[in-house]
Amino acid sequence: MKELQELAARLLTDGSAGVVIGYEEGPRGVRPAFVTRPDDVGRLIFDPRCVHNLATYLSPRRTHLKGLGRPAVVVKGCDARAVAGLLRESQLAREDVLLIAVRCGGVMRHPERHVDLRAETVADRCTSCDVREPHLFDFVVGEAPAAPPVTDRREARIRELEAGSPADRWAFWQEELSRCVRCHACRQACPMCFCERCVADKTQPQWVESSAHPRGVLAFHLTRAMHQAGRCVDCGECERACPADIPLGLLNRKLAHVVAERFGHHPSDDPSVPAPIGSYAQQDGQEFIL
Ligand code: SF4
Ligand code: SF4
Ligand code: SF4
Repeated sequence: MKELQELAARLLTDGSAGVVIGYEEGPRGVRPAFVTRPDDVGRLIFDPRCVHNLATYLSPRRTHLKGLGRPAVVVKGCDARAVAGLLRESQLAREDVLLIAVRCGGVMRHPERHVDLRAETVADRCTSCDVREPHLFDFVVGEAPAAPPVTDRREARIRELEAGSPADRWAFWQEELSRCVRCHACRQACPMCFCERCVADKTQPQWVESSAHPRGVLAFHLTRAMHQAGRCVDCGECERACPADIPLGLLNRKLAHVVAERFGHHPSDDPSVPAPIGSYAQQDGQEFIL
């Protein structure tokens, strides 16, 4: 913690950064922090409650942070994948951000609901993490902690759904999505949903009904899932932000499996690795072209 605070103070003092985006204690648990003065770096913390993907604040649609100067952002290894995604898709220039990577032992799925890190509380993505020692960074802080607890919860649920019939899956998603109120918190929390105007908000022409009618809900989620295929960095922020507890991670993860099988692609923290949606290979399957 001290190492992080000292680094933040140095970057703000020498002018390398105008704002350090990290984590702090809030009235209802850990929350994102925006520190602009060296005197305030004591607010910065990092522990297993720091689940938020702060790369979302680097998205070009977050214009309210623009006036604060160059950001230095605290990133876990997995969050750096979102930064790599923004760099890959030309939403961010590498010189416009400083990355303070933290060595990580896993985070909780819902830190507001749990008190410690266990197999029952660990975020789904942590089990198979290969970036606890970050690769994309300007600075790395912290000692390497113990590996996160292991859980097969999400993959087991995906296997269970795959084993059912299409009718079973349809019924499952109809039931889950019936709770969606179209608040779009899932989209707003997502670092990879950065369109200036979402197709779900367009009215001329209107492609997606804007109300929480089942037709509009389904169209929104199918569109969003396809737009995230091969781009989703599995940060889990959409699911965590959802007030209706809709298991969006199941959908995102299933699509990630399909993309991995068909294109051999896994979301990477190397911005030079192209995403399948923006690249072409002759061996790409074409059986859907009649
Ligand atoms: S996925 Fe890896 S880097 Fe990300 S929170 Fe879990 S253990 Fe940490
Ligand atoms: S779709 Fe969800 S899990 Fe994927 S990058 Fe966006 S917020 Fe993260
Ligand atoms: S956050 Fe949940 S309720 Fe809101 S639009 Fe997304 S899925 Fe629907």
